[in-house]
Amino acid sequence: MLNTYFRLYSFVVVCKRTVICHQNRYMSLKQEKSCGECGRTINGRTDKRFCSDNCRNTFNYKLNSDVTNYVRNINNTLRKNRRILRELNPKGKIKLSRERLLEKGFDFAYHTSTYTTQEGSQYFYCYDQGYLPMKRGYYLLVVKKEF
Ligand SMILES: [Zn+2]
Repeated sequence: MLNTYFRLYSFVVVCKRTVICHQNRYMSLKQEKSCGECGRTINGRTDKRFCSDNCRNTFNYKLNSDVTNYVRNINNTLRKNRRILRELNPKGKIKLSRERLLEKGFDFAYHTSTYTTQEGSQYFYCYDQGYLPMKRGYYLLVVKKEF
């Protein structure tokens, strides 16, 4: 590394002291942080996460924007659905009523994928946890083996 250094900076009159000086600078450059919003380097030793008030405000605005909240709410609903299915189906397969799911707060409007068999049965999945609607308001809960 030092050889490369000498080659790159052969125009500099290098004594032991300046090498150390440049190495320190090189190390402090590597520790520089970048702005959480625009990615620009934040200069100086600092605990700041943003390069400016503007960037901090923009970041926080996006964090709390309607679209962000909308996506967050759907993600939370999907995760909750998955948790409910998993809790009700510890052995990987169980038949239960729609009411059992609803009383836990299951939201039938949201799933991550569907699977239709050749016979035309449609499974609904929340991640790895799924269900198959059956007759008379019953559901067969299943678990996806492969992802
Ligand atoms: Zn910035």
